[in-house]
Amino acid sequence: MTFSSFSLDPALLKAITESAYDEPTEIQKQSIPLIIAKHDVMARAQTGTGKTAAFALPILQKLLLAQPCKQKLRVLVLTPTRELAQQVYKSFCHYGQFTSVTTRIAYGGVSTKKQITELKAGADILIATPGRLLDLLSTGSVNLSEIDTLVFDEADRMLDMGFKDEIARITRVLPRTKQTLLFSATFAEEIYKMSKNILIDPKLVEI
Ligand code: AMP
Repeated sequence: MTFSSFSLDPALLKAITESAYDEPTEIQKQSIPLIIAKHDVMARAQTGTGKTAAFALPILQKLLLAQPCKQKLRVLVLTPTRELAQQVYKSFCHYGQFTSVTTRIAYGGVSTKKQITELKAGADILIATPGRLLDLLSTGSVNLSEIDTLVFDEADRMLDMGFKDEIARITRVLPRTKQTLLFSATFAEEIYKMSKNILIDPKLVEI
């Protein structure tokens, strides 16, 4: 199997060629077609398996098909830590480098000023940690009313770090109709419980 078999936009294939990836990893082979087919997906994969591209590529593809881009936030990716937010942000920027898709990032521990200015300028995708996203929501600095794709990256770590309430508060303000993707290193009981409240008829991917 090659990346061409996913019928991705040439701009995405160009970025993949620049990355010099020979073929999709197992998590990518299994997840990308399901995400393109608009299923909710619950995927178990460790860091290092290529899990970021497994959701970033089909999400970028979805945004490209929805042109013209309205510059309203359409995709929200939640990560447990600033470091992971930065990694995911870099991946979206890299895979989307030959497109006009705009990605922003918001995490705590730094001033909100730059993040607010960037969000006001418009964006398609926001990568955020839960606490900072709630801060931005409480000051009306971010509008999530058009989100149609929600990703939990490293969901198990998010729960381990005590973000359960924050996650509930965030999901409450999102539109009901959306595609939700949950990536986690483990499928512990707590993850199943969380998924029951948030995902609809998810397809399971376990590698
Ligand atoms: P991740 O699991 O998303 O943290 O990715 C781990 C590393 O794998 C990153 O450095 C990616 O650039 C790389 N990677 C992602 N997809 C592929 C692929 N299909 N072939 C080779 N490397 C990849």
